[in-house]
Amino acid sequence: MARPTSRDGRPTIIALANQKGGVAKTTSVASLGAAFVELGRRVLLIDLDPQACLTFSLGIDPDSVETSIHEVLTQDAPIADAVLHCEEGLDLVPSTIDLAGAEAMLLPRPGREYVLRTALERALDDEAGGAAYDVILIDCSPSLGVLTLNALTAADGLIVPMPAEMLSHRGVGQLLDTVADVQRILNRDLEVIGILPTLYDGRSRHAREVLADVGERYGVAVLDPPIPRTIRFAEAPAVGRSILSTARSSKGATAYREVAAALLART
Ligand code: ADP
Ligand code: MG
Repeated sequence: MARPTSRDGRPTIIALANQKGGVAKTTSVASLGAAFVELGRRVLLIDLDPQACLTFSLGIDPDSVETSIHEVLTQDAPIADAVLHCEEGLDLVPSTIDLAGAEAMLLPRPGREYVLRTALERALDDEAGGAAYDVILIDCSPSLGVLTLNALTAADGLIVPMPAEMLSHRGVGQLLDTVADVQRILNRDLEVIGILPTLYDGRSRHAREVLADVGERYGVAVLDPPIPRTIRFAEAPAVGRSILSTARSSKGATAYREVAAALLART
């Protein structure tokens, strides 16, 4: 990662994207965010999915939210106005179902892919806004629409959460093609940090084989260790906390901590 901490006073912005649903994007954003906090980093999470699963999982009722990412993207609301302080020391820019209409509202606008980037740049110039963070993680919706393009345009790095069984599918290539377009047209500096293998069953020979082959096949890094499939993950969102505090020493929590530490170590 080019800037693992705010060495130069700017946070590292990482998007977690995959056009498929159910691949553990949201779980990874919440868990890596909590792991970065444990490592002493100041973390802001941005929920860029109209389904607002990240917002729910952090114990916030989207219906009670006054200023969300929707107002930031469509009404020029400052990011600082939308930030909520959640459990585990995480800050969140929440989403609401209103965001479902944002794609259509952004579509006719010139520079529609740059709206989030511009909002973040504004916040980063303002101490009360973004400059107070070391890491910003963006949770994307399961599509390659305007919202996800906004995330990829705003980000320094991309992590692609992906169950091992899906690594052999066409979806990876499609996503990486889109990323190449984004790098060419919208954000030259976007770095593909790597694929994060999720829902991993280490007992499956197929999963192990696919994992061994995928980095070479697509020419991208595969983050290590893979995140094991564990029943404890399904329990965490119900109590508004991530796996890191509800199952402190589970294999999944340990794996996310190791991935977070490895991300901070790369310079
Ligand atoms: P996405 O954001 O990509 O749609 P989610 O993070 O919402 O994916 O995860 C999809 C489902 O898988 C959720 O029910 C979540 O609790 C579950 N899940 C995520 N990671 C794991 C894991 N390591 N083991 C078991 N279940 C998991
Ligand atoms: Mg999600």
